[in-house]
Amino acid sequence: MSDPVIAGGSPVRKDYLIFGSPDIRQPEIDEVVAALKSGWIGTGPRTTAFEDAFRQYSGSRFARAVNSCTAALHLTLLLADLKEGDEVITTPMTFAATANAILHARGRPVFVDCEWPTGLIDPGRIEAAITPRTRVILPIHLAGRACEMEAICDLAQRRGLLVISDAAHAIETRYKNRSVGAIGDAACFSFYVTKNVTTGEGGMITTEKSEWSNMVEVLALHGQSRGAWKRYSDDGFKRYEVVAPGYKYNMTDMQASLGLHQLARVEESLRQREDIWARYDRAFKDLPLLTPAPPQKGTRHARHLYQVLLDTARLCVSRDEFQNALHRENIGSGVHYVSIHLQEYYRRTFGFKAEDFPNALKISERTLSLPLSPKLSDEDVNDVVAAMRKLCSYYVARRSHAK
Ligand SMILES: *Cc1c(COP(=O)(O)O)cnc(C)c1O
Repeated sequence: MSDPVIAGGSPVRKDYLIFGSPDIRQPEIDEVVAALKSGWIGTGPRTTAFEDAFRQYSGSRFARAVNSCTAALHLTLLLADLKEGDEVITTPMTFAATANAILHARGRPVFVDCEWPTGLIDPGRIEAAITPRTRVILPIHLAGRACEMEAICDLAQRRGLLVISDAAHAIETRYKNRSVGAIGDAACFSFYVTKNVTTGEGGMITTEKSEWSNMVEVLALHGQSRGAWKRYSDDGFKRYEVVAPGYKYNMTDMQASLGLHQLARVEESLRQREDIWARYDRAFKDLPLLTPAPPQKGTRHARHLYQVLLDTARLCVSRDEFQNALHRENIGSGVHYVSIHLQEYYRRTFGFKAEDFPNALKISERTLSLPLSPKLSDEDVNDVVAAMRKLCSYYVARRSHAK
């Protein structure tokens, strides 16, 4: 095997393989063009159609489109009606948006450690973290793997708490034959560029509560009374009332145009990622790393992120150094995540120490997400495998030299 680029060799491929590159096809391109030509590019009929399609796909009672999952989290946490300092229990093994949104809604994030190696919230640690100020449990279906929703919802019901899911990775995730969008009080989905369905930027709230659904529509558009986006439509101008100091979180028909066709292909695209997943699993069996655990019984994994956990002791290299070497091979990758409790603002504000959440810390230092877009060709997948094998054997050999 040739040397890695970092040791003077040549890269496994000439052009750069972008991590999380979206699979955009002709139907969504045509739909965007049709929206542009229709004269109605803001929130309108295509957004409503996308909400309907998503509601049906998730089997939830209501679905409301917004312009990001961050906005979705912010709005649902506002609907939880937190008073200054009310507590939201979650894990630090997530994206910044989860914890930031809790603060935007005046809440206080209370972290409990995640499980090794999945990174999911450990249901066994939640109860001990409940105080008289606790209002919400916020599980994250990390990488597309379903959290233990039965245990979480039972506990929430027993203690009078709300359950709001961060389902940014979990469009296709099912728990006991139900979409995670139809479990708990609300779920928040993302259509960011790297997500399983993309609208460029976008998000969706699913809920079983009609009151929350109505309030989301109002709060997402300046707090104007329901259906205010129609005020310039062919229904004729309608007067609206401002009923709350709302936000500017509405989705546009240009975004929904992408979403409609992306969602129509969501199952096909999942099968493509399942194939890539299985190929990675087979190819990495003998490498000094942990491949993702199989999905728990009775759940469906949305295969959003293929995360390996590097055996940094056997490889004698840090994840950052390894990732950089992979980048030099022209393979893009991701880190999901460096735990929130290790981030500067959260350390400074809440006084977290690295060891406060040992599993989150261990995952933060070892996790690496490999390309998994349905757009990957067989050759692309082979390149990722070749680069991983090359770097692993290089770092293992370097370690034995060092001894
Ligand atoms: C992407 C992501 C978000 C935020 O989604 P946006 O649509 O970019 O606002 C929130 N939580 C998790 C876990 C994510 O991966």
